Amino acid sequence: MVSSSDRIDIGERVYILSTQKIGCPVCGNEASLIISEYRSLYETLIIITLRCSNCEYKKAEVIPIIEEDEYKCTEVKVENVEDLKTLLFIPPGSSIEIPEFEVKLELAELSDIVMGNYVTVDGILLDIADNLEKVCIEAEQGLDIEKCVNIVNTLRRSAENPSTPITVRVISSVGNIRIVRSYRNNFKKC
Ligand SMILES: [Zn+2]
Repeated sequence: MVSSSDRIDIGERVYILSTQKIGCPVCGNEASLIISEYRSLYETLIIITLRCSNCEYKKAEVIPIIEEDEYKCTEVKVENVEDLKTLLFIPPGSSIEIPEFEVKLELAELSDIVMGNYVTVDGILLDIADNLEKVCIEAEQGLDIEKCVNIVNTLRRSAENPSTPITVRVISSVGNIRIVRSYRNNFKKC
């Protein structure tokens, strides 16, 4: 028999990390996509839940996070539409580079990724494009505006359909970068 006083506190916590509205894959109405993190002394899990209040469709995916999977520098090759949905955890104070375009941004410059955050690759590309566009408009001395605008357009196109392969490199001085979900496992340490 286990009484409630025998229960050991394992420090269980559930955090809701993001809530998005997406089209229900069954009925097409608006459904909620919720990403949460479950933490206890023993494990960390990412739980992705899709729920439609119209047709009652529900799907959940549980992804265990393994501590050894944390990197200080990670590169995701983006060559395919599936790669855009690669989900990363990016800790605060990271920087993101796109070596093909010689683009480098500190995380603080990215509007939607201020603190440690879970983001998809297409979200990163669009955020970089938005930030870079401001740089193009400010047109500092010596900046090739035409090249700048071209990169912004390429990034936006790639976020829809990556016909030209690009690399998203995330660097964190403290580590903790995690690939939460990848469809083709096309990422590596750097
Ligand atoms: Zn539905």
